Amino acid sequence: MEPIENKENVLRKLPGVDRILELSKENGRYNDIPKSVLVNSIRFVIEELRAHIIKNEAPISIETQNILDRVRQKVEENMQPNLRRMVNGTGVVIHTNLGRSLLAKEAVAGIDEIAAAYSNLEFDISKGKRGLRYSAIEELLCQISGAEAGMAVNNNAAAVLLCLETMAKGKEVIVSRGELVEIGGSFRIPDVMAKSGGILREVGTTNRTHARDYEAAVAQNTGLLLKVHTSNYSVMGFTAEVSLKELVEIGAEHHLPVMEDLGSGTFVDFSKYGLAKEPTVQESVSTGVDVVTFSGDKLLGGPQAGLIVGKREIIEKIRKNPLTRALRIDKLTLAALERTLRLYRDPDHVVKAIPTLRMLTEPFEHIEKKAARLLRSLEKLEEPRLRVSTKNISSKTGGGSLPLLNLPSKCLELQIKNMTASRIEKAMRANDPPIIGRIEDDIFIIDLRTVLDDESSIICDAVTGILQKPGK
Ligand SMILES: *Cc1c(COP(=O)(O)O)cnc(C)c1O
Repeated sequence: MEPIENKENVLRKLPGVDRILELSKENGRYNDIPKSVLVNSIRFVIEELRAHIIKNEAPISIETQNILDRVRQKVEENMQPNLRRMVNGTGVVIHTNLGRSLLAKEAVAGIDEIAAAYSNLEFDISKGKRGLRYSAIEELLCQISGAEAGMAVNNNAAAVLLCLETMAKGKEVIVSRGELVEIGGSFRIPDVMAKSGGILREVGTTNRTHARDYEAAVAQNTGLLLKVHTSNYSVMGFTAEVSLKELVEIGAEHHLPVMEDLGSGTFVDFSKYGLAKEPTVQESVSTGVDVVTFSGDKLLGGPQAGLIVGKREIIEKIRKNPLTRALRIDKLTLAALERTLRLYRDPDHVVKAIPTLRMLTEPFEHIEKKAARLLRSLEKLEEPRLRVSTKNISSKTGGGSLPLLNLPSKCLELQIKNMTASRIEKAMRANDPPIIGRIEDDIFIIDLRTVLDDESSIICDAVTGILQKPGK
């Protein structure tokens, strides 16, 4: 600790921003750095040192060289974009915190093309007149899902809000108590219902709801029957739910529209690939349901979007709702969504072309090989402090989909002498690009299911970097 009486002295000796700026400019390093970035970095460093001295914390060097080093580090930090790529070693395929779905290369090319030039976003080329934003995807959506009409908005939360507002404002919406889901904290069916102006009419119990419960709840002011796919949990044991098909029959009997929030929504029958059965959009549409909503970036593997398919009459009403303008899909998303949907026209190819589907259906032997290759590359480093091995684990789908499914996978176990697992985890996270794994049984592990083929070298470089850092 610096003695109190020294504080003023030390503060006086602290160089000013101008002095450090002058010294920094002598170095060609900053020629391509905007002056504002350099000045802000210097200010930040000097302020930080001043605060440190005032707080009388542990002694700190105010040598010019030390200040210049700190400035260099701060400039580097400031020059790096805040939103950056990362390596997902968690094995969670649809990881909401890490950006959910990776786009197929065709979708990326679509964004590239549409972003930098003018486009027919709302222009009918053949007529030379104003066109509809949804034309780019409507026919595709209908072809794939079997629906009469379709559109897309910002995300599925927006789609649900919009549908409820259009069909049930001021009216009762009947929902099973077993389906009042919460997704990721901020999306809760009762809350979205309240915001839409719909009146929630809960029926049944948490584990069992019967057709007669819906029937008994139908009243003068009923506006809609709603089914919500319990994406992120499963009610097991003594249970009963009313299928969408039955709900559609009840709706028809009472002349009430029926809506389904499918959540993750998929066009692919995952049971064909040995995974758990998820209801497909086509199956829902085939029941004659009025409207189905689902996400673009969960099991669909496209960009963030909320897709709405169903009866033409209702889709037209939704389009005319002024709220639609506030929730509309942007052109880059639309470009990526269209190119993603196009891939679904070839069901055999699509599971390879869309990264989310490829990772979910990736055979264990492939992941095993990827793990073995990475293991060999790390062993080749011949670092005596490094201990690596592979282990069987299970990965998760994530994104509130297939919650009970454990996908057999392979991970890399990474140990470094004199470093705890949590310090390795922190160092990997501090890498550029950051590598996110997890600690299991006190060992840092990377699940290879979600690691892309060209990311193995990033992991090797990161490990080399960590081993080279002094004092570790
Ligand atoms: C994920 C999910 C939503 C929200 O979808 P976003 O695309 O994340 O807005 C709504 N309902 C259900 C059932 C979901 O699983």
